[in-house]
Amino acid sequence: MTKADDMIRIAFSGARGRMGRALLPGLHAAPDVTVVAEIELDDDLTGMARAERAEIVVDFTTPDAALVNARAILAAGAHGVIGTTGFTAEDIQQLEGEAQAAGRLLLIAPNFSLGMILLQRFSVQAARYFPRVEILETHHEGKQDAPSGTALDTARRIAAAGAAAGPRGDEAARGLDVEGVRIHSLRLNGIQARQEVHFGAPAEGLVIRHDAFDRGCYLPGVLTAVRALRARAATGAAGLLHGLETILDD
Ligand code: NAP
Repeated sequence: MTKADDMIRIAFSGARGRMGRALLPGLHAAPDVTVVAEIELDDDLTGMARAERAEIVVDFTTPDAALVNARAILAAGAHGVIGTTGFTAEDIQQLEGEAQAAGRLLLIAPNFSLGMILLQRFSVQAARYFPRVEILETHHEGKQDAPSGTALDTARRIAAAGAAAGPRGDEAARGLDVEGVRIHSLRLNGIQARQEVHFGAPAEGLVIRHDAFDRGCYLPGVLTAVRALRARAATGAAGLLHGLETILDD
């Protein structure tokens, strides 16, 4: 087997989008990856991935295309690393069965930042010891949603681990109540994406903070996912993995 045979052949769907433009230079530069197709809207994803013998399709497109593209990836006989948002719980359940039936792996992760996954993991650990918690998340003022989907996810994980905000104060000043955890959202120009989880306990505090300086922060997570899928596929694994944390300890 030559070295070229051993490279992970990936097709990128959504190549001209913001994520595509941010990630493709790093994927091209990765020593063990070869980008065999750059797929755009109106291209035939299945046909292009199949023609170029793509082993893995990386998809960062639009919520409308998310489910259709996931199925197109399976139809091409490829595995999928999918960052596109917009999957419902029902979609995830259906795709799990379809990936199993196709004998392929789909990794769907709403956040590919390794630092953010670690922030969530450390926050869940801290919630066992610090009973009080509030989240402050900041983004540029063009961001459409508030709170961010990732901050909501962090809040739910922390709530499940048992911490919550204190009860006092005028409701309007206390942020959004997400299962007892309060989220405060700032939307200001000039601000990078940041999430801070503030914990309180008698006589001590703890702040866990993550900063995303630009979309390049997602590249290590995407490469980790691509490599993990290659390794898991070699064992004959198939099905759907939801969240980057599912492969972080591979
Ligand atoms: P974007 O700038 O709108 O880019 C989307 C790209 O996909 C566009 O070039 C679009 O083409 C193309 N496209 C649309 N439908 C397609 C289809 N059916 N097949 C192939 N290409 C298609 O969006 P973005 O900022 O790159 O974000 C892309 C997705 O990633 C969004 O869902 C976003 O929420 C998500 N995201 C995820 C993470 C994560 O860590 N998981 C991080 C950031 C963003 P046109 O321009 O011609 O429409």
